[in-house]
Amino acid sequence: MTITEWFDIHNPDHLQAHDCLVKEGSWPKDFIDNLPEDITFPPAWNIIIAYKIAEVYTNLHETKGLRTFEHPNTSNDWKCPICKTNTILPVLLVAIPGTEDGNLVQAEQIHVVCLNFTRMMTDIKERQNQ
Ligand SMILES: [Zn+2]
Repeated sequence: MTITEWFDIHNPDHLQAHDCLVKEGSWPKDFIDNLPEDITFPPAWNIIIAYKIAEVYTNLHETKGLRTFEHPNTSNDWKCPICKTNTILPVLLVAIPGTEDGNLVQAEQIHVVCLNFTRMMTDIKERQNQ
């Protein structure tokens, strides 16, 4: 199995490990130690993973109405799902799929800059495929 098949963008542990990879340049030791033994790393695997993460958030971005706020609401121990920090930067309210209830839907705050980063990674991936 490849790392890109194995990596689960809905698994918070995987996302946290990816965050460490982005910020510190390597996976956390615990994460590496617990990888299945037959994991392989195909070319551009890191971009493919970033693309998988981007895909989820950009799909949300394009299919649901969005509201932008100058500051996040940091009550309830909020952390941006992409960078895992509560940095005071403008955020978008992004609807969470599967939470629709009539006209209501639960929404998640995501930093604008983080969403733009994931979109940039999507663009890179698309250019590589041309
Ligand atoms: Zn963020």
